[in-house]
Amino acid sequence: MSFQFVGCSSSTQLSSTDFDTKTPYQYVTREQWGAKEVQPGGKNHSITHVTLHHGGEFFAEDKDVLNYLPSFQKWCMQDKHWIDIPYHFIIDAKGIVYEARPIEFAGDTNTSYDPAGHALICVLGNFEEQPVNRFQLQSTIVLMANLCNQYGVKTDSIKSHKDYTETLCPGKNLYNYLQSGLILSEVNKLIK
Ligand SMILES: [Zn+2]
Repeated sequence: MSFQFVGCSSSTQLSSTDFDTKTPYQYVTREQWGAKEVQPGGKNHSITHVTLHHGGEFFAEDKDVLNYLPSFQKWCMQDKHWIDIPYHFIIDAKGIVYEARPIEFAGDTNTSYDPAGHALICVLGNFEEQPVNRFQLQSTIVLMANLCNQYGVKTDSIKSHKDYTETLCPGKNLYNYLQSGLILSEVNKLIK
């Protein structure tokens, strides 16, 4: 994409001094949030890319994620007939990272790109409408760096959903931080 955003789309534009990527995020495993077992039929893959998404729906900061995840998982399995939640990680408004689909299985999508090889991160919220807060951005950066370190992903393979197909995802207020280079420069500082 060659389109450049001009000016700020939100009044709370964050910069690297607003967060501390030395702080690890709080991590909640599938077991801890009461995930049902992944359904059979998953496709194994090797991680070569990290791809950023948003939930696409307004998500109130005080919404109970531990209550939301089991019902979201149920909808994914029963209505979408997916093996599990389509993303591997979900980040809430407090920056807590939840384990979603087991990462050994390729993700799913409603759009026309092949998510095999992609570690999929979904930040809860609609970032066409909501601003991204510092906790969400900080955890996104640290999680991306951890994935790069673990799987040898290069920072030029960190992109977002809209870099692959026609979609608004991950929303302009989050995409802005990828496009400005802020996310990638912070991830680079953490890559070993
Ligand atoms: Zn997406």
